[in-house]
Amino acid sequence: MIVIVSNHTSEARMGEIVSYIEGKGLQAHISKGTDRTVIGIIGTVEPPMAEHLRQLHGVENVVKISKSYKLASRDFHPADTVIEIGDVRIGGGELVVMGGPCAVESAEQIDEIARLVKSAGGQILRGGAFKPRTGPYSFQGVGVEGLIMMAEAGRKHGLLTITEVMTPEYVDVCAEYADILQVGTRNMQNFDLLRKLGETNRPVLLKRGFSSTYDEWLNAAEYILAGGNPNVMLCERGIRTFEGYTRNTLDLSAIPVMKSLTHLPVISDPSHGTGRRELVEPMTKASVAAGADGLIIEMHTDPDNSMTGDGVQSLFPDQFARLLKELEQLAPLCGSTFATAKEPASAFESWKK
Ligand code: PEP
Ligand code: MN
Repeated sequence: MIVIVSNHTSEARMGEIVSYIEGKGLQAHISKGTDRTVIGIIGTVEPPMAEHLRQLHGVENVVKISKSYKLASRDFHPADTVIEIGDVRIGGGELVVMGGPCAVESAEQIDEIARLVKSAGGQILRGGAFKPRTGPYSFQGVGVEGLIMMAEAGRKHGLLTITEVMTPEYVDVCAEYADILQVGTRNMQNFDLLRKLGETNRPVLLKRGFSSTYDEWLNAAEYILAGGNPNVMLCERGIRTFEGYTRNTLDLSAIPVMKSLTHLPVISDPSHGTGRRELVEPMTKASVAAGADGLIIEMHTDPDNSMTGDGVQSLFPDQFARLLKELEQLAPLCGSTFATAKEPASAFESWKK
């Protein structure tokens, strides 16, 4: 249920409405818009109570929300959520680019890639220290050491960092070293993990499960929001379809659909979404055109020898830099802005194929 209140209503009156709701043992979440304030109610509102709310002075309307997720929905929170971390704003109209390797492999590797991400104009360094591998004998990541290496590289080159956390037990240590915590596709419905992430104050990037519906995805986000962490962004990373040419099918429709159903920022991952390097550039541009608030792109200095199988979908550094330069021109045509660093292209000369 949402209660719509005119912004001409006094603070005192608003307080009385909220007290009435809370007095019934329900939760009230306030979202202030330019003309109206929406009070979202969590809990069951019986018809007599709805009727009473409708009669209260200042209340314009009382509307039943049938969706199972509440805090994640635009009905509850009409304005876009903007996640601010340092001087980076995610969801505020400025395109955000996260770049880096699939996995942190060594201190030298992540340091050099961080330098290149920064030179190209990226704001956030990605890299997995804990890798969710399909088989148990594959490289599983370098663990906590990798978190330390990445934090160091991020600090040195002026980048925020994002890394995947796979289990509730590792949330605290990942939150200690990384600025953003990533929930991978395989863990989208790991409810214990989501609950634990609700208790942290670190922003969370929630990848879509590769077989999950929009509704399931938003309910997964709801777990984190309901736990008290409002800083959640969604990431479309491709779903499993009958098509085998691409690793996954990047569901571009998910971007505008999510932008309409929820106020949370939406990020696109064209690397896992396609699994093919040559498709990363067109699908990045398509994602921006579809309204994405940001991108998470794999980039590697030696993709052929990367320690995960994801080298085939990783851009070479100069491709990454060229792509970001092009986004500078594309973004304004699509309603966002993006500014690459004013580094000379020569920073990438040695990486040209
Ligand atoms: C990753 O970002 O490296 C990753 C494992 O992603 P996903 O969970 O989308 O497969
Ligand atoms: Mn990967």
